[in-house]
Amino acid sequence: MTIIPSYQGKSPDNSPSRPDKVAQAKDEKSVLDDPQTVSVTESKARKRSLVLSAQETPADNRSDNALRPQTLSEYVGQSRIKAMMQMSIVAAKGRNESLDHVLFYGPPGLGKTTLAKVIANEMGANIHMASGPSLERPRDIIGLVHQLEKHDVLFIDEIHRLSRVAEELLYPAIEDFVIDLTSGKGQATRTMRLPLPRFTLVGATTKAGMISNALRDRFGFVCRLEFYNQEELCAIVARTTKILNVKAEEKAVQVIASRARGTPRIANRLVRLVRDYGQYQGKDVIDEGTAIAALESYQVDTSGLDSTDRRFLEILIDNYNGGPVGVETIAATLGEDRDTLEDVYEPFLIQNGFIHRTPRGRMATAKAYQHLKRKAPNMQLNLDLAVDPLEEKW
Ligand code: ADP
Repeated sequence: MTIIPSYQGKSPDNSPSRPDKVAQAKDEKSVLDDPQTVSVTESKARKRSLVLSAQETPADNRSDNALRPQTLSEYVGQSRIKAMMQMSIVAAKGRNESLDHVLFYGPPGLGKTTLAKVIANEMGANIHMASGPSLERPRDIIGLVHQLEKHDVLFIDEIHRLSRVAEELLYPAIEDFVIDLTSGKGQATRTMRLPLPRFTLVGATTKAGMISNALRDRFGFVCRLEFYNQEELCAIVARTTKILNVKAEEKAVQVIASRARGTPRIANRLVRLVRDYGQYQGKDVIDEGTAIAALESYQVDTSGLDSTDRRFLEILIDNYNGGPVGVETIAATLGEDRDTLEDVYEPFLIQNGFIHRTPRGRMATAKAYQHLKRKAPNMQLNLDLAVDPLEEKW
């Protein structure tokens, strides 16, 4: 029996990029640049709103390697997860075993991929990277696990998008470290079971609720990543300015951190934008005024909301008297897809008390009225109905 792996090898840190993210970046670019679909003004507004998108852009990807923390001690925040990983990695290494499988979930840009790489580094192992949608056929999975060595980390991003076939092939691989290979058709079908080295599967998802219970239950650790607080973001911004050789005053660091939506990827992007603005203005050191002026020129407001966030709130308040409004209606009015709204925009707006998610739709809070300088009606929301989007079904 001959198996021809379709997967082209490991994706080391310096690989060009994850294929799905490149495709996504291309999609974004082609949509934004297509004069047939988007007017010039709209296109500019959307590019501006990409400043605060937690999704990875090609520019993020280029500076990623230099900025990504390599070890648990360099990794800022997420202290509960870090403490648990630290303890389990030391224990696994002490027993000369692989680390138990780990699932990270939470909004994009919070450090799931980074943690997977940190785990591999701390284990002294290789990391093999793939994404759910790229593992469609059995030979995609076989090609991937075929390269694993003892204690390696297999990272699957967007694991909720694995095909059913791929998921079922993975079960024995992660449970018993074997893979079932089949050849032939009909009555001539043969199955051969091959042993695999003990490895660690690290899954990442923004949609915890879309993972089957069967897959979820096979992870030893299921960890939800939280938004970062101001202090942690200041540490991340200060670290990034140091690595990028940008001189910034402490007040400027605080301004950038406070507008980064609790997300390291956005914090890093804002540092690059402020650096470029400062350079253009001939500043050797970024002070508070320069940071504020730079961020305002990109329409990032004091709460870190961008034009899409504000438009979201305007739709709720001005068009629908504060809601409730179904997410599909908001998505159609904004010209965004539902997934982007749910994954990228809503978690931050909910976490920061601008909207409530209820079974009947989204509702603006008093804070949203205040932020947009609108007069708030007498608001009586049954908070029991409010749903935390990060809680998902677990
Ligand atoms: P996710 O996989 O959750 O979308 P990533 O792991 O790709 O997010 O993180 C995005 C970027 O943010 C990384 O390039 C890294 O530089 C930075 N980053 C993420 N988490 C941290 C952290 N805890 N400390 C410092 N930088 C971080």
